This record gives sequence, structure tokens and C-alpha cells, in this order.
Amino acid sequence: MKARITVLPGDGIGPEVTGEAVKVLEHVGQVFGHEFEFKEALLGGCAIDATGTALPDETVAACRAADAVLLGAVGGPKWDDPTAKVRPEQGLLGIRKALGLFANLRPVKLFPELLHASTLRPETLAGVDVLVVRELTGGVYFGPREEAGEDGSRAYDTMLYTRPEIERVVRLAAKAAQGRRGQLTSVDKANVLASSRLWRRVATEVVESEFPDVRLEHILVDAAAMHLIRQPSRFDVIVTGNLFGDILTDEASMLAGSMGMLPSASLGEDVNSVGLPRGLYEPIHGSAPDIAGQGVANPLAAILSAAMLLRHSLGLEQEAKTVEEAVSAVLSDGYRTADIARSGERTVGTEEMGTAVRERIR
Ligand code: NAD
Repeated sequence: MKARITVLPGDGIGPEVTGEAVKVLEHVGQVFGHEFEFKEALLGGCAIDATGTALPDETVAACRAADAVLLGAVGGPKWDDPTAKVRPEQGLLGIRKALGLFANLRPVKLFPELLHASTLRPETLAGVDVLVVRELTGGVYFGPREEAGEDGSRAYDTMLYTRPEIERVVRLAAKAAQGRRGQLTSVDKANVLASSRLWRRVATEVVESEFPDVRLEHILVDAAAMHLIRQPSRFDVIVTGNLFGDILTDEASMLAGSMGMLPSASLGEDVNSVGLPRGLYEPIHGSAPDIAGQGVANPLAAILSAAMLLRHSLGLEQEAKTVEEAVSAVLSDGYRTADIARSGERTVGTEEMGTAVRERIR
């Protein structure tokens, strides 16, 4: 297969970790006989420095022309002034909007070798393999709002959802569940919120009419927050709205202990030359300015993001699994970057970790 991938390394450790992810993709291309063409573009602080804006038009064009986008991270102390007119995060929000990415997927799978890195007890974490699908472009973050009252003492936000917004994200999550253990948990607050009652009704209709093989359950967001730390292995795929998803994805990511291990994908309706969603793939961590430039960042979240890219945007399931198995193998073989090492354990740098993963893809 031929595919075009736009890479947005961004700031801080972004270029270091995406560098390793690109090398892994190049290697996958060689081993499996695919031709991946990479093009780099500016996003975030580096784009502000070079062009005065966090999201240059050329970057948007390069992403739209690609089959998939791989992103590192943006931001850092240099651009931290909250009153500044241009800020790195504008690039991040802007590119998600420009590509119409309505669903964010965060898988949390625990590698047995890293159970010690979590704050939860190993027996609670055994068997955790959950995918959280968060609606990304609707709900209370985008509904009508006002800061009002004579002295600004009254304000409101509106949690607004429409049927098509719910249908498309539930459909995507149900499809993902079909490829996994076939269980979908829809999270809402239907006992209180009207928008949640619509969410629940539409989710039921979509799954019952289009995905008879998927088992759907509804739970309230407060119960979901509790179950996620009490018995996280009970979940397969979780689908939820923007606000609840924002909170639950962060909670779920803490199960894994280190942010350096967790990938994510954002998908939209735009279809690429392969006939699949043109997604944006990125590690969930930030630009880690405290360790940038030292060659010690953990590249595995970026490499696992590349595996998601192979799966969701290029339809290369076997290749994706091979990358994920290579990551498991390096961990079993004892490779650790500093963030996932126990005290006294030998650590490797970013490049050595990336090389170890490539060596296990044959
Ligand atoms: P962060 O994720 O950058 O770092 C938090 C801690 O985790 C730091 O100690 C860091 O060294 C460590 N860490 C993160 N990724 C790591 C990796 N791959 N390997 C080893 N250690 C890793 O979060 P922060 O410190 O809150 O934010 C730093 C900057 O990143 C800020 O400017 C913030 O706005 C930005 N940020 C960007 C994104 C994004 O681009 N999606 C997300 C979150 C934060």
C-alpha cells in the first residue's frame, strides 16, 4: 500500500518521540512492503516562532492532503504567558477543528511488567484493557453560554447534543467494540440531564438496529468514575460525551501509571485515499519541557499512537498488532526508560528504546 503521513513533531520532547515513531513506521513499511511518504509541518510553539501563528495554513493543507497525521506535543515555558494572543494550544484545538475530528479514542491497556507504576493495587489492575471513546466537538464545551448579571455574577453553559452527533460517535464506538470483546458501556447522567436522556435513547437505537452482536449497557457517570478504579477490567469500550469523557479519560489514563505509555487517536468523518477516517494520532502526554533535549523521553506512547494510525487510518491490523507486540516484547525483555523504571533498574534513552522496538518487528 501507498500512504501519505503528515508529521507534526511540535515542541519539547515532541520531535524526539515522533522521530522514533516515524522510524518504526518506516521499518514496518520495509518489512510488510508498504510505501509510506512522510511530510513534516509546523504546529504549536515552533510554528509561532517561525510564522507568528500556532497553526499555519500550510500545516492545515498538509494535514488535509495526508491519509493520517502523527502529532508529538505542543507547548512549553517559552510560550506560557496566558495573556499572549497566540498560544501553542490554539494550534492543537485548531487542527482538530480543521479536520472535523469528532471522536477521541484512548485505549488503556496494562502491560503486566508495569503494574508497579500505577497507584492502584496490582490485583485491581489485572486484565485491564479498556477503550474510552469521547465525543469531541459537541456538548457543554460548545453549547450556548453566557457570563451575565449586572456584576457578572451569573453564568451558564448549555449541554446541547443532537441526534446525528450522538449517532456517529456511538456507531464508531460500537464498531470498535465489534473488533474487541463486543461490550459497549454508554456513560451519561440520564437521571438528571435531558441531553443524557436523548443520548441514552439514541445509543440504544443505534446499537439495537445496527450492531445486534454488541452488548450495550448504560451507566451513570458517577458510577462509571467509581467502577473505573474499583474494577476497571469490567470495561471493554466506553462511549460518552465531551465533558464526562474529558474527566473519565484522565481517570482511566492514571490506571497505567505513566503517561509515557498511552496513545490516542482522534477520528472524524473525512475519509482518506484508503477509504478510512483521516485520523490524528498523538501520545496523551505533553511536551515535557523538564526532560526535553536530553534523549530520555519514553517514545512508546508515540510508537503505540503510530500503531493506532496503522489500524484506524490505513486498515493495517496485522501491522498494528506487530508493533504493539514489539512494545510488549521490549518491556518483557527489561527495557525501561526512566519514567517506567523502578529504582536501581537499568534505563535506556529514547533512541535505544525505539531501536529495541524496531528490532522486534520482523
Ligand atoms: P507533560 O505531559 O508534558 O509532563 C508531565 C510529567 O510527565 C513531566 O514530569 C514529564 O517529564 C513526564 N512525561 C511526560 N511525557 C513523558 C514521556 N514521554 N517520557 C517520560 N516522561 C514523560 O505535562 P505538563 O508538564 O503538564 O505540560 C508541559 C507542557 O505540555 C505544557 O506547555 C502543556 O501545555 C503542554 N501539553 C501539551 C499537550 C499536547 O500537546 N497534547 C498535552 C498536555 C500538556
